[in-house]
Amino acid sequence: MSLVDHPFWPEVRPSARAECTARPGPWRLEVARPSNAVVVSRWLSIQVPCATCQRLMHPIRSRPDGSLRIAVACPHEGNEGCSKGYKATQEVERIVSCLQGQDVSAQAGLFD
Ligand SMILES: [Zn+2]
Repeated sequence: MSLVDHPFWPEVRPSARAECTARPGPWRLEVARPSNAVVVSRWLSIQVPCATCQRLMHPIRSRPDGSLRIAVACPHEGNEGCSKGYKATQEVERIVSCLQGQDVSAQAGLFD
């Protein structure tokens, strides 16, 4: 199951955005941290299969500074290769297109 098919995704999606630091570059999937701690812990508890190895993992992760991001594969400690493969790239693209469907300004930014 993809994150975009998860029951909590409609709740997360308005806070999520895709950033591209270089073109063509890797996407960074950021999530604005909600002020409500209950919502934060609910999002951090989401589990979906890793895009590559299908092992259950947490796609929404908290950085040391408290910011949230979306990952599509196992954490590096778990399996180095999972985030680098074709399936992981596909899953990132899937999330990006889902986000771009709602955010016209971000999409326009791709072609400036
Ligand atoms: Zn994996």
